[in-house]
Amino acid sequence: MRIMKKIYICILILFTLSLVWGLRIQIQGDGGRINIPEKDIDGVPYLAIKDVSPIFRCIQKQERTDQRLYLHIYGETFIFLEGTQYYSYKIDSFNMQYPLARIGGDYYLPRNFFTEHLPMHFPGEHIYRDSILQIHKPVDHSVQVIVLDPGHGGKDPGAVGKKLKAKEKEINLDVALKLKRMLETELGVTVLMTRSDDRFVSLGDRTRYANENKADLFVSIHANASKSSAPKGTETYYLSTAMTSDARAVEALENQVVDLYEGGASARSKYDDLDFILSDLSQTEHLESSNELASSLQQNLIAGTQAYDRGVKQANFYVLRGAFMPSVLIELGFISNPDEERLLVNDEYQQRLARTIFEGIKRFKYRYDRIRNT
Ligand SMILES: [Zn+2]
Repeated sequence: MRIMKKIYICILILFTLSLVWGLRIQIQGDGGRINIPEKDIDGVPYLAIKDVSPIFRCIQKQERTDQRLYLHIYGETFIFLEGTQYYSYKIDSFNMQYPLARIGGDYYLPRNFFTEHLPMHFPGEHIYRDSILQIHKPVDHSVQVIVLDPGHGGKDPGAVGKKLKAKEKEINLDVALKLKRMLETELGVTVLMTRSDDRFVSLGDRTRYANENKADLFVSIHANASKSSAPKGTETYYLSTAMTSDARAVEALENQVVDLYEGGASARSKYDDLDFILSDLSQTEHLESSNELASSLQQNLIAGTQAYDRGVKQANFYVLRGAFMPSVLIELGFISNPDEERLLVNDEYQQRLARTIFEGIKRFKYRYDRIRNT
């Protein structure tokens, strides 16, 4: 009799356990393996983001202005909208069938986001079997492809020097070609150029080229100009809508190409639409890295050339919008300043500019590779 009683108790315990386990999913990620309770919301199994965060090392950010939720999982960004079943990833949107839910202060995603969608976005890194889900960080996420963008070209000379009549488009290209050689031979990365000779490339085509080639960095190279010959120095920009009046002037100068060579107002509105749809999804997630890249470049430029430091700035350049990667724009110096114009056309000085930009990219790459691979 006592044996029968023990067996009964054992069966009861097993039965209870199976009930509890049935409402759980076991997830294995880079942060370890844990059992995560499922929450039933309108008959659909959901997982709390706070529960999966340690496993996928994900960071949750919420926009105060709207109901958007940014989820950074293994360095990739997923954007959700409260109450809807769609989310954005890279340039596409996906349907989870069930909406992002919020209970109290906690966000919940339908289980199928984890068991079906994540494995789809991290192919080769997942196994889902016997209610155990394994998703690991994709192995290689380092900076491998860099797009260099020598500003202007062809019918668009860019700024023109006052004394030597030096053309900005030529300086930009010369420096970019020197930099390309250094990056390829010394850093072993692939370098693609939006142009490698004197030709016109529209602003939209420049970033499209970088996106299509899945570039990890986008570096646009320019020389500055001013009505007065006094302004001098080097500055580095990354994309933003917030800016100073000085930055606004440079922005107007570099965006001028749309008015002058790309059909003016109609082209401008095309870029503005593009901005609306894309820059939000693309550059916002790279703002931090773009800022970091810009700082690294600016520091090295100033240290290496002793040029006047105009700092790291934010502006709303067309050429940086819609780029799905950390992107910056460098103004090497003022072509309108006779002293700097002389320097900018000098082969040795160009070599030094390329060297300092190279050092800035190298430093950023090492940091970035380390962050993304840990
Ligand atoms: Zn320019």
